[in-house]
Amino acid sequence: MSSMKLFPDKCDGCEECVSSCPYNAVTMRDGWPVFGDACNLCGACAEACPSGAIERPAATASPAVDKTSYRDIWVFAEIRDGRPARVVLELLGEGRKLADQTGQNLYAVLVGYGLGTLPEELIAYGADRVFLAEHPALAVFRDEPYAAVLAAAVNQYRPSILLFGATATGRSLAPRLAARLRTGLTADCTGLDMDRDSGDLVQTRPAFGGNIMATIITPGRRPQMATVRPGVLKPLQRDDHPGARFSGRGEVVRLTISDDLLTARTMVLGFTAEETETVNLEEASIIVAGGRGLGSAGNFALVKELAGLLGGAVGASRAVVDEGWISYAHQIGQTGKTVAPRLYIACGISGAVQHLAGMQGAEIIVAINKNSEAPIFKAATFGLVGDVVQILKELVGQLKTG
Ligand SMILES: Cc1cc2nc3c(=O)[nH]c(=O)nc-3n(C[C@H](O)[C@H](O)[C@H](O)COP(=O)(O)OP(=O)(O)OC[C@H]3O[C@@H](n4cnc5c(N)ncnc54)[C@H](O)[C@@H]3O)c2cc1C
Repeated sequence: MSSMKLFPDKCDGCEECVSSCPYNAVTMRDGWPVFGDACNLCGACAEACPSGAIERPAATASPAVDKTSYRDIWVFAEIRDGRPARVVLELLGEGRKLADQTGQNLYAVLVGYGLGTLPEELIAYGADRVFLAEHPALAVFRDEPYAAVLAAAVNQYRPSILLFGATATGRSLAPRLAARLRTGLTADCTGLDMDRDSGDLVQTRPAFGGNIMATIITPGRRPQMATVRPGVLKPLQRDDHPGARFSGRGEVVRLTISDDLLTARTMVLGFTAEETETVNLEEASIIVAGGRGLGSAGNFALVKELAGLLGGAVGASRAVVDEGWISYAHQIGQTGKTVAPRLYIACGISGAVQHLAGMQGAEIIVAINKNSEAPIFKAATFGLVGDVVQILKELVGQLKTG
């Protein structure tokens, strides 16, 4: 494999390359930088070098793989609070459809420890088989061992497609795995389809600030990897009652986990949920979201109060996140979270396309806005035209007394 190129006559031993390397792959020996095994040619050291003494080797196209030796669709079954994350069920729903269309199998891959009946649950939501990697060292998510275990399984079983939720975990794990497998990854997809002629996965995602939808394929590499936004695909109903489609079927295959897969440079000392994230937006069935129409951070407290009274989560438009009224974790939209609650109450939100992109999957949308022409009313099931602060005070008051 090629490596970073050093021009000794230009290097003055400043060590910028050492501190700039995100993989700790550069060390100094006898005053010269040495590029270790962890180097993946990202080029950060070359960019950081003030004297231009390091050069990244020219990229050479890897030969295309034999696509016929890869088949089936895998879904990474991320676990959250002891249950499959909702996006996993959504991916199984879409994966089932694609598998049925193309005559492939749908498999889930479950990594962790003490996983109980979760494999059966994944089968009940459509998986034909669950690959189970269970080990105490995998009890808590860490990128390195999870990526190593998944890479070993992929190399052994050769899936054609590997799907992840575009969650914090999926967004961290999938790129690491794609780099290890030397394959492509389409991040943040909002749609998946199959090209029947080539068998390639057609991956759709917004690009250029949401102004166009890009269609991306991975024609020469396998597996085809994608992260998919939570809330955009529909899960299947759990279907394992006697006589139902998924009852009495599916198998669980335990993966062998050798010790070398479990090495990691990180340790998880504990887990503290961010206070503002006590209700997970992507899984919430009720969301009350506030926008700039509330006028001030003080008034935004009414949104939190109503959400609390309804047992819902608090969402926000980007405008109020930019104002600093609430943290980014609450932003809904194209550059925030995608949500699909049963009830979405939009308070003083105009309904810009970038906001709508994140909440159009809601079953019932209630919009409160003083401008009857506001675009949010086009997406709304029910609309209230009036001053949002007055209306929220009234609602909160009634819920407290009623
Ligand atoms: C690349 C890109 C990505 C983006 N990503 C996102 C994203 O992820 N999420 C997002 O939300 N935005 C996003 N935006 C920003 C988006 O375009 C809008 O600017 C933003 O959503 C506006 O927020 P808002 O509706 O709260 O504010 P405004 O557009 O200012 O709307 C405020 C609304 O409140 C109403 N109002 C005012 N006073 C009152 C009152 N007293 N009572 C009732 N109603 C009142 C007004 O009529 C108006 O409709 C993005 C923009 C770009 C360019």
